[in-house]
Amino acid sequence: MKINLIKGDITKMKVDAIVNAANSSLLGGSGVDGAIHRAGGSSILEECQQIRNKQGKCKTGEAVITNAGNLPAKKVIHTVGPVYQKGESNEKELLVNCYKNSMLLAKENGLHSIAFPCISTGIYRFPKQIAAEIALSVIKSNPILDEVIFVCFDNENYTIYKNLLSYE
Ligand code: ADP
Repeated sequence: MKINLIKGDITKMKVDAIVNAANSSLLGGSGVDGAIHRAGGSSILEECQQIRNKQGKCKTGEAVITNAGNLPAKKVIHTVGPVYQKGESNEKELLVNCYKNSMLLAKENGLHSIAFPCISTGIYRFPKQIAAEIALSVIKSNPILDEVIFVCFDNENYTIYKNLLSYE
């Protein structure tokens, strides 16, 4: 399994699946969620709404899959990251579940490449260094896809991932 790192905007990625750091409503939000819905158009939100009507909210750590509308990716996997409180509310395990469940959902749908944003490290305030260590370790211990790309939007996350990947 190839692991790649780029600095940029995940909505531009031409991969089988991009992952959205969604909220449990699945009805859109700010940050990367807003960017994906803006660039992808209304068909993504429509499918999110259908999923909500069927199963209700998406629980933290779980993931759902939709079409990717106008995006170059084939599918969008929406996962709900934990809001970081003091680190005593299972935040780490829940973040592990986000990465694991997104990978599994991609695999189940016959997808081979996936691009992740730095889940929970924006509005949800997960400490970036710890979040990056978790992301890399989950991906490495679950090599079930052909390619994983970490897409860092901000310099701080990009530097953290670059350093972690260079120690391999
Ligand atoms: P969360 O609520 O899970 O913290 P955010 O969207 O606030 O989600 O932030 C998650 C990460 O996504 C942050 O590191 C932020 O810099 C990054 N981000 C924001 N916009 C984009 C984008 N267009 N492409 C990739 N990453 C993005």
